[in-house]
Amino acid sequence: MMFDVTDKVVLITGAASGIGAATARLAAQRGAKVIATDLDGERIQGVAADCHCIGLKHDVTSEDDWDNAITAAVHHYGRLDALVSNAGIVNYEPIIDLDMARFRKLNQVHVEGSFIGLQQAVAQMRAQAADKPATGSIIFTASVMANCAAPAISAYAVAKAAMANMARAVGVELGRKGDMIRVNAVCPGPTRTPLLEGAMPAGAMDDPAHWTDVPLGVPQEPEDIAESILFLISEESSFMTAAQMVVDGGWSLT
Ligand code: NAD
Repeated sequence: MMFDVTDKVVLITGAASGIGAATARLAAQRGAKVIATDLDGERIQGVAADCHCIGLKHDVTSEDDWDNAITAAVHHYGRLDALVSNAGIVNYEPIIDLDMARFRKLNQVHVEGSFIGLQQAVAQMRAQAADKPATGSIIFTASVMANCAAPAISAYAVAKAAMANMARAVGVELGRKGDMIRVNAVCPGPTRTPLLEGAMPAGAMDDPAHWTDVPLGVPQEPEDIAESILFLISEESSFMTAAQMVVDGGWSLT
């Protein structure tokens, strides 16, 4: 089977919708033990029912909520093998007009949320490893915006750049410390999810004229990103760490 995640215990944040929900569904279908979490405590239960997995309300900016989610993974499945730090929000105001509260919120969800999850996941992966090197895979859903610019999305780009570089820096740091915990960022281009659809004119998502900047010529589906995330969870990517995996149909090179 491609990208074998059988029996891996995988915690996915922002899993009530879009890329997170697609990843939860695909991972569960392929035999992973999934803990799907989201700020939206009602919608996450729908995804959990579909996936026959555990669904939890979880605000990624809360240290206590992270503790509850990782404790749930260990309580139900005895360990944590992978974390997909995926929860996200967007803001399309020019950065010059953005007030501190909204700038801070973007960074709290993407950067602080990923930081708290990273620390707690690594602590758990080390604790369960006893005297062997700790193993595990941590994936941040960053964005192609980590490495490019577009009008009115600069503050989001700042937060995503921090996430993507945190993956790179921590991947190196953990490897040097003797851990076998891999940390990578997946960097999607524009993907058909509520986060993007909310900012597009009606009908644009299915209008080929809107996608001429994408060499592959069509919008990217959440399942395309989910497959890449499964690859990073699986042992097939065992020598990948501190990497940024761009999945955008070539969009960021045009
Ligand atoms: P989405 O809006 O469909 O899903 C995002 C989920 O995150 C929602 O279910 C939301 O409730 C949850 N969330 C928001 N704040 C949270 C918080 N504080 N704690 C926990 N959950 C929270 O969007 P998506 O497109 O699937 O986004 C998933 C990730 O992919 C995000 O990090 C986003 O920035 C990134 N991304 C998306 C695109 C795109 O074009 N859709 C492109 C690049 C990167």
